[in-house]
Amino acid sequence: MNELPKDAIKCLDKGFVRLVDSMGGDDAIVQSARVSYGKGTSKVSQDRGLIRYLMRHRHTTPFEMVEFKFHCKMPIFVARQWVRHRTANINEYSLRYSEARDEFYYPDPDNIEFQSALNKQGRMGEVDSELKQKVQRYFKEISERSFEIYSELNEAGVARELARAVLPVNLYTEWYWKNDLHNLLHFIGLRSDGHAQYEIRVFSDAMASFVKEVAPFAWEAYQDYVVKGMRFSKIEQNLLERKLPDRVIDDIQEDVAYQLTASLHANKPRSDEDLFPLYKDQGGSDSLDDFNLKWSSGEIDTGNVRELREFKSKIETLRQS
Ligand SMILES: Cc1cc2nc3c(=O)[nH]c(=O)nc-3n(C[C@H](O)[C@H](O)[C@H](O)COP(=O)(O)OP(=O)(O)OC[C@H]3O[C@@H](n4cnc5c(N)ncnc54)[C@H](O)[C@@H]3O)c2cc1C
Repeated sequence: MNELPKDAIKCLDKGFVRLVDSMGGDDAIVQSARVSYGKGTSKVSQDRGLIRYLMRHRHTTPFEMVEFKFHCKMPIFVARQWVRHRTANINEYSLRYSEARDEFYYPDPDNIEFQSALNKQGRMGEVDSELKQKVQRYFKEISERSFEIYSELNEAGVARELARAVLPVNLYTEWYWKNDLHNLLHFIGLRSDGHAQYEIRVFSDAMASFVKEVAPFAWEAYQDYVVKGMRFSKIEQNLLERKLPDRVIDDIQEDVAYQLTASLHANKPRSDEDLFPLYKDQGGSDSLDDFNLKWSSGEIDTGNVRELREFKSKIETLRQS
């Protein structure tokens, strides 16, 4: 297949990612989770809250209920990295059965850089145009020459499964790749990260855009709790416990009390005189006057009540004994 399928996202010079099929979305996650958490009411905001809860607590199996099947075309050296993700089902174009096509990856000059001095698995630093041209020339020379030899061996009747071994790893291959949302998010987390090689990142980003469309709440939760979320090791926690003064913890707890009040109020509006007692119930320590002043400032965000309560108890554990 030489042309780009119309529903595909182009990747690199000749590759693509195309979503062939998907099963379920945010609704399927919620549906399966409710088997364990009970039916309850199912407003969109509650679905979002449930998905965020599941992601936060790494309750992963409901995310496995959503399936994605992609048709992808990538250079063999990208496929080598991709295939390390063992939970997928793959069916690849066979060079034993079919002849290889004259399709090789030629890097864009912008992506030709020096070996990184900081990261053994990365690149950095502008390469001068003379060296860039040389890199491009070598890619072309080796690709064209190897393909000539391959074609000659084919015409002489040598088995395709052997003749293909003269072809370099910038040759394009194609496959169908099917995986569930949990493992796909894990793949994207690793391969869209800045530490992953540029050439696989492009494909991972393309798949991410399909995930975002099919399961927007799950995507949002994954970004918030996994990609941008932060976990502290025991050593880091010890440092925080030792170094965070009580007054800082008090300030954070105070903000949480306001946010909890605002969130509870947003979910079920209270009369003005009930607000201050509600704030006190959430652990607030400001006076009524201070409360009224801050409350009317309009600077208090609402959030997820359960999440805020979890945060409150985490912060409490950092208090110096
Ligand atoms: C930036 C980067 C650099 C890398 N560098 C190297 C390298 O230099 N050399 C190299 O060899 N690899 C390298 N890898 C590949 C890496 O080690 C993993 O093989 C790859 O990222 C797949 O991760 P995974 O095993 O978590 O994913 P998957 O295979 O998709 O598995 C998903 C999860 O399922 C579980 N799982 C799946 N199969 C098994 C099993 N058989 N036993 C136990 N648990 C299982 C694990 O919890 C795993 O996290 C690199 C990856 C990245 C992202």
